[in-house]
Amino acid sequence: MVSRPPTFCPDCGNRLEETTVDDRERMRCPDCEAVVWHNPVPCAGVAVVDRSGREPAVLCVERGVPPGVGEWTIPGGHIETGEEPPEAAARELEEETGVAVDPADLEILAASAVPPRGGKHVVTVHYVADRADAAGDPVAGSDATAARFWTPAEFDASGETFRPVHEQRFREATAAFGPRSR
Ligand SMILES: [Zn+2]
Repeated sequence: MVSRPPTFCPDCGNRLEETTVDDRERMRCPDCEAVVWHNPVPCAGVAVVDRSGREPAVLCVERGVPPGVGEWTIPGGHIETGEEPPEAAARELEEETGVAVDPADLEILAASAVPPRGGKHVVTVHYVADRADAAGDPVAGSDATAARFWTPAEFDASGETFRPVHEQRFREATAAFGPRSR
């Protein structure tokens, strides 16, 4: 399996040929006699919601690496082989923001396909966590140029841009974890 549309066989290096399998266009290695599958890559992320203020705020990161440099996202990344999705989300959060959460404290928010870029298709599982269950203050880490809490109103007034799908999750996270009841 490869993450971008394949041209060459990842095993033997020969040029692939087009074929049709179950009514879908596939790429096949004539020497290995095998289809090279092109599937979405699984990713996981977590929206940490701070409910201590008047409006809930979500911890977001500004991407420092392509694609989408300068866009804001929910912290997250690729799931490693053998890793559970909540573990991946917690690991990526800590790598990108320095904020630590226990994977057991994560609740599923949504799972969705992200619009492909450069032929790379990603499916992301997004979680939410309460800031009260997280440790540490945000500091931009790997792959990020900034890490901070935004309320939707602050973000809308900032002129910054959010990555599609991530923006939906950002708004859903604040709704899912509304202001703490008094
Ligand atoms: Zn081959």
